[in-house]
Amino acid sequence: MEGIVLRSTGSFYEVQTSDGTVHTCRVRGKIRLEGIKETNPVAVGDSVAFDLEHNVGSITAILPRKNHILRKSVKKTGHSHVLAANIDQALLVMTLAFPRTSLGFIDRFLVTAESFRIPQVLIINKKDLLDAEGLQQAEAVMALYTKIGVTCFLLSAQEEDQHVVHEILQGKTTLVAGHSGVGKSTLLNKIAPHIKQTVGEVSDFSSKGTHTTTFAEMFPLGNNTFVIDTPGIKEWGLVDMNEQEISDYFPEMRDVRLDCKFGARCVHINEPQCAVLDAIRAGEIALSRYESYLSMMLGEDNRK
Ligand code: GDP
Ligand code: ZN
Repeated sequence: MEGIVLRSTGSFYEVQTSDGTVHTCRVRGKIRLEGIKETNPVAVGDSVAFDLEHNVGSITAILPRKNHILRKSVKKTGHSHVLAANIDQALLVMTLAFPRTSLGFIDRFLVTAESFRIPQVLIINKKDLLDAEGLQQAEAVMALYTKIGVTCFLLSAQEEDQHVVHEILQGKTTLVAGHSGVGKSTLLNKIAPHIKQTVGEVSDFSSKGTHTTTFAEMFPLGNNTFVIDTPGIKEWGLVDMNEQEISDYFPEMRDVRLDCKFGARCVHINEPQCAVLDAIRAGEIALSRYESYLSMMLGEDNRK
């Protein structure tokens, strides 16, 4: 039998088959995946093959992954586990106020998703709370990110915008992230009331320390539509990224930097005839994006 892993506890997995039935499965013996060093190989979003004996299934294989995201290793053991796999898009829900999401945080999210080759979507929520100046700022954020290939929306989860959200999610597997309070649950509840109690709980629990789950969870919304909630997006991300690599994940730098005089050795900070610095001076690369680049280069924590 084959199915998709919706949930994992580390020893048991909930696997949904195409008819919608959910089976509890275990891993027997070792499953190895080429190139991945980890102790817990089966991840949420994986397509797996399993044998059903009695009530509990045995996962025998993980089908090839389209992509995956890793969770940073907490103890710096060098082992990182796969948090989720086969993600079509990474959606960041943000707000300009109540709470404010910083550009640095957005960039870190985008760079991380880009490093895992996952297309990115940005929703600026709580449009109804914005005055004329706020709306202008929102437009500027949309312009900034649309230009570098991110699909952007400005909406209000509390108003009649659920058809927009529905269209964004329809037929895809979407990883949803964003600070607490930006309106993730409100948005999702509008289109899938039955997941009301669950989305957001995973992350809330882990931050309070009352529950130590480190696993993502996937919610089936029907019609091949899935939403993945991860425990603390602060913990997934920039795994072992070296200096040269960081600019790979800034799409607007990726092409430009080929013209740097020092080629691949240029880190675009104070080298002469740096094409990236020239593009910033010419206004082709936004200063805020370059600042985010610098803070990642310097290893600064940009979680706010
Ligand atoms: P989450 O932590 O990201 O899941 O955020 P919630 O969905 O729990 O929303 C946090 C608060 O923001 C709640 O009080 C919501 O009612 C409110 N909220 C969500 N969306 C909107 C919106 O579009 N406009 C306004 N004014 N408030 C919203
Ligand atoms: Zn350069």
